[in-house]
Amino acid sequence: MDMSALSDLQVVAIDGPAGSGKSTIGRALAERLGLEYLDTGAMYRAVAFSVIRAQADPDDTDRVRALARSMDLQMAGGRVLVDGVDATLEIRGPEVTRAVTAVAADPEVRAELCTRQRLWALERGGGVVEGRDIGSVVFPDAVLKVYLTASVEERARRRAQEMQDLDYDRVAQDLVRRDESDSSRAASPLVTADGAVEYDTTGVEVARVVEDLATMVAERM
Ligand code: C5P
Repeated sequence: MDMSALSDLQVVAIDGPAGSGKSTIGRALAERLGLEYLDTGAMYRAVAFSVIRAQADPDDTDRVRALARSMDLQMAGGRVLVDGVDATLEIRGPEVTRAVTAVAADPEVRAELCTRQRLWALERGGGVVEGRDIGSVVFPDAVLKVYLTASVEERARRRAQEMQDLDYDRVAQDLVRRDESDSSRAASPLVTADGAVEYDTTGVEVARVVEDLATMVAERM
């Protein structure tokens, strides 16, 4: 891949922990800017789905890597197809959510998905890309790098609401567990990228955040 081509892309990189508002804000910002949106968390979830579906052992790194490389992944119109199977709902379920952190800690799985994310942006000239390592690793030259945060209470409340019947305490525990493991892993841990703008969304309306970020993009283009 010609890495120099990446610096010419119009990418907005949004990182942050689970429940910080990345997906809601990323989608709305993409629409506001007329760009396409990529949820990279869904890509890691798709690998976990494919491991579960193949009844593979998540600790069998060779097998997990092979599945990540061979996986046919289609993401369009809010649906996620993994090797032709509609996984849209299942990738948000508890089984995938439990398995995804281990899968995402493997450096070769990360390298594979990083390549796919860069190709996605190259094909479109850019986009709004959301995840944990987008500004720090995948697109360090993004037009705007944002690190979204929110209090643990607010993040757990949002996730519990999103998943409807999920218990608040369980959701809060799961968030803290994933934050810890995403932040402490050796391969591309969740960090604030160099030059990233930190934005705390606690108590801030989505429309307000989107307008603030759109203004920052306009200032930088
Ligand atoms: O954003 P979401 O909660 O769907 O992400 C699921 C998991 O995928 C995260 O907990 C993290 O382990 C992993 N992930 C990652 N790098 C990204 C996006 C997600 O490691 N860029």
